[in-house]
Amino acid sequence: MFSSKEEFKAAFKEQLEDRYGRTLETASEYDTYRALGTLIQEKINNKWLHTQQHYKRNKTKQVFYFSMEFLMGRLLGNNLLNMDVLTLVEEGLDELGLSLSGLEEKESDAGLGNGGLGRLAACFLDSLASLEMAGHGYGLRYKYGMFDQHIIDGKQVEFPDYWLSKDFVWEVRRPDEAIEVRFGGQVSSTRDKEGKLHFKYEHYEPIQAVPYDVPIVGYKNETVNTLRLWSAEPSVGDTMSRAEKEGEFGHFLGHKRSLESISDFLYPDDSTEDGKRLRLKQEYFLVSAGVQSVVRYFEKLGVPWSSFPEKAALHINDTHPALVIPELMRILMDEKGIGWEEAWEITRSSVSYTNHTTLSEALESWPVGLVRSLLPRIFMIINEINERFCQELWSTYPGDFDRIADLAIVADGQVKMAHLSIVGSHSINGVAKLHTEILKHREMKRFFHTFPDRFNNKTNGITHRRWLMHSNRKLASLITETIGDTWIHEPQQLSRLMSRKDDLSFLDQLHDIKHQNKVEFAEWVQQTQGITVNPHSIFDVQIKRLHGYKRQLLNALHIMHLYNELKADPAMEMVPRTFFFGAKAAPGYHFAKTVIQLINRIAEVVNNDPAVNDYIKVVFLPNYSVSMAEKIIPATNISEQISMATKEASGTGNMKFMMNGAVTVGTMDGANVEIHDHVGDDNIYIFGLTSEEIWEYYNQGSYSSSSIYHNDERIRHILDELIHYSPFSKGETEFQAIYDALVTYNDEYFVLKDFPDYLLAQKKVSQDYQRKRQWNLKSLVNIAQSGVFSSDRTIQEYAEEIWKINRVGALK
Ligand SMILES: *Cc1c(COP(=O)(O)O)cnc(C)c1O
Repeated sequence: MFSSKEEFKAAFKEQLEDRYGRTLETASEYDTYRALGTLIQEKINNKWLHTQQHYKRNKTKQVFYFSMEFLMGRLLGNNLLNMDVLTLVEEGLDELGLSLSGLEEKESDAGLGNGGLGRLAACFLDSLASLEMAGHGYGLRYKYGMFDQHIIDGKQVEFPDYWLSKDFVWEVRRPDEAIEVRFGGQVSSTRDKEGKLHFKYEHYEPIQAVPYDVPIVGYKNETVNTLRLWSAEPSVGDTMSRAEKEGEFGHFLGHKRSLESISDFLYPDDSTEDGKRLRLKQEYFLVSAGVQSVVRYFEKLGVPWSSFPEKAALHINDTHPALVIPELMRILMDEKGIGWEEAWEITRSSVSYTNHTTLSEALESWPVGLVRSLLPRIFMIINEINERFCQELWSTYPGDFDRIADLAIVADGQVKMAHLSIVGSHSINGVAKLHTEILKHREMKRFFHTFPDRFNNKTNGITHRRWLMHSNRKLASLITETIGDTWIHEPQQLSRLMSRKDDLSFLDQLHDIKHQNKVEFAEWVQQTQGITVNPHSIFDVQIKRLHGYKRQLLNALHIMHLYNELKADPAMEMVPRTFFFGAKAAPGYHFAKTVIQLINRIAEVVNNDPAVNDYIKVVFLPNYSVSMAEKIIPATNISEQISMATKEASGTGNMKFMMNGAVTVGTMDGANVEIHDHVGDDNIYIFGLTSEEIWEYYNQGSYSSSSIYHNDERIRHILDELIHYSPFSKGETEFQAIYDALVTYNDEYFVLKDFPDYLLAQKKVSQDYQRKRQWNLKSLVNIAQSGVFSSDRTIQEYAEEIWKINRVGALK
């Protein structure tokens, strides 16, 4: 690396001149970003090469983490941090009159994911490399990532996110490692003299999967792993022959475009599967390219097939890559001549699966006809897996037709991806304790009964390097000054901060840092949104995908209620609060879009009414993304985690906030339950129905939102304001759908039921916030207890209990 600032500055200027033909004087900010990025990339390359050689030489077992989403955000700051040159580079640039944070803003977010699931994958890669473990990501190189959200007339409008219009300086294209993936066509079989079946696959459509590798740098160590993103391109031979046959260049172009469309778009749908043929193509494209490349690597090791599971762990992040199971079977049997039993043993021992949701609408299934026509050989294998599994069930539960129909992989004309994932893997994990219990005892009860040893919990985590060290440098420095820097390698040492719980000056310092972060964030809001917010007000934040179960609506109704109270009694005492929202709605999810519209309407009303303006402000931040999260979380006082109990599998936003000293207002859902366990009743505001209470309502069928509406004057007032003439509705019917969901259709997410309790919790927040010392203590406890939610802990558990890998140890 650079031994001094001088050396860095010289190298940087040289890069700018030699690679981009610019001098400091003539370079744009974008040029300087690119020069810095490529310069750092060159430094990374050396370690990258060595790491890969080390793995190969030692035949190290490696994890391949298959995920349709990697929500990486920006890489420059993190790479500088992990390469241990952040301060040096920052100071060097400063001496050249450049600001590092300004250059960082020039990088596009790599938004190749929707939300929590994709961000988890990104945090995991950072932890694997930082823990010196051999683990890589396999994903798709979407040309367009998560859509760019604009708010126009208070409504969400989606624009394509053409993030690659700027160079992605971190990727390396490796055309020589391209792999052919095949779709459609026909399969025929023949028997040889020994009676063995051979399958012949013909008339298929070949597509090239070209890998683009992105280095994943470990924190201050020698490990650099790989995020391999596959891009679809026409296979050369195929297009040549087509152009020749059809004799028309136009056909060739059309064909090329349709092939490439496989890796064009990320599906911007967070939790429901729209049965699109293209989506299934994407899934198989990732899986086939990935598994073939793992097999290709394995064969170079020169060890027997039976040891495949000792050399490779294939992990599937939710069911989207579940075709890994039949694809590995296909390769082992059709291409390597291995028999079913052995291939099955190898496959099952190598594959593990994480479930991310209990929402029934999010369980993936594909119509049999579609799978059969698009992936004929894969379909045959899935059928065979299903038949063998049903046979086994039959011998364990003879005559239990109902159970077998319930557990079958192929049933009712559908291929059920969760069932395939469970049957074809050796480990199934949920992502928080409550979620795993729900899987075992409710959603997947019968599978748990059949395979009790396969189910386990791995509570999610977040990388403290990005979410504390990089995004909140002031707080990280204070922590290091106070307890030394061992917490960086062992985040659970953050608990040593508890020794300062009675130290008033330390609590004041915590407060000052939070305040400075709020001032900085307020400036950013002023500059980018043109809204003035008071940094002395409580910063109350809900940022996450917009979804019914996450209940942004509950938060919005609370603000309407506060507004009504203030209008009715202008002398009412109220601790000033600024409510921030950030949320994208899936483009086809009309209800979620209406909620965005409502929040923006509330903002318009509240922010322009001088009677309430000093007490409440509402800011909807457009285009919520990783880089925005990094700005707002350090400035937050109140973290809103108010999903309906049982619906949020884990949440990871909750962990990021906690680690930055925000206090949670939340339900007993997902990982909130574990946050509560760690901080105790006094340092979190828990409200609302518990999972048990919700199941009780389901069993009794006894919930009636309309009786709440009729009996609670406050609720009736707000809901009527949605549909009658009021400052919020202006007499139009745009919010009728919200009223109907809550009153007419019995409030699927128990918003009205939890509303009174939510108000009480929020009242308590306002009271407690005024007692500065106690408040700072709550903030301290949250930071001190957050270490367990580092993804380093999560990854250590996956490594030990699922993947069976160790630290590689210092590479040299
Ligand atoms: C952490 C994160 C999420 C997940 O947030 P939840 O509150 O757990 O749903 C979603 N999007 C982005 C950009 C994130 O950084």
